[in-house]
Amino acid sequence: MTRRVLLALLEVRGGALVWCAVLLALPLLLPVAAIADLLSAQRRANEEREVLSQTEARCPRRHAVALYGAYRCAACGLTSERSGFQACPHCATVAAAIGCPCGLPVRNPLWRPEEA
Ligand SMILES: [Zn+2]
Ligand SMILES: [Zn+2]
Repeated sequence: MTRRVLLALLEVRGGALVWCAVLLALPLLLPVAAIADLLSAQRRANEEREVLSQTEARCPRRHAVALYGAYRCAACGLTSERSGFQACPHCATVAAAIGCPCGLPVRNPLWRPEEA
């Protein structure tokens, strides 16, 4: 009986130690996570700026495809003048690729499969 109580107390104390460690580590981990988030958002914004400043892209057959023009959003149907790689101004959908007149797709470097 006393052994059981002792074991239960040890378990509680072990659990409390884990919780103390978690509570002490949280204030240290949160700024690290916030900085990592900030850096990844900044990297993403830089990549987006660079891609959207391009005026043409190449299809797998190396044809030059003009990126600026009237693009119809596959999700909402809105046609707007923009880069084919840019998100739709209405529903923010990013196209996975745009078509080359030869029929092959030009992959959009800004498209992320996890966001589809
Ligand atoms: Zn749309
Ligand atoms: Zn082509």
